[in-house]
Amino acid sequence: MDSGKLEHFKKQLEEMEVELSAAVEGKAEATAPVTLDTSIGRLSRMDAIQSQQMALGLKARQQQSLLRVRNALKAVADGTYGQCRRCKGPIAIERLEAQPDAVVCVKCAESAIR
Ligand SMILES: [Zn+2]
Repeated sequence: MDSGKLEHFKKQLEEMEVELSAAVEGKAEATAPVTLDTSIGRLSRMDAIQSQQMALGLKARQQQSLLRVRNALKAVADGTYGQCRRCKGPIAIERLEAQPDAVVCVKCAESAIR
């Protein structure tokens, strides 16, 4: 990969990292335990629990994305960015454009799902 392209993806990854780490670390209040305040009704308590679970699910996904982004940044530093972790083949530029944190090629990603 030429250095201009690499710089382009690195910048994207760095932006993603900033955004994701802010989201993961900054939303503590959304995932705080639901207080069993009797002044709120049963339904709104269920609402609160439901939205908390959604927030937790979102946070788990963001944490995973953050790990992937940091992994990809490590690969940039190692000079292995754009190389498939599994087969060592190149990862298509189009795939990286769509998903800058991809560390395996399309073929390996598909075989991992199957
Ligand atoms: Zn591969």
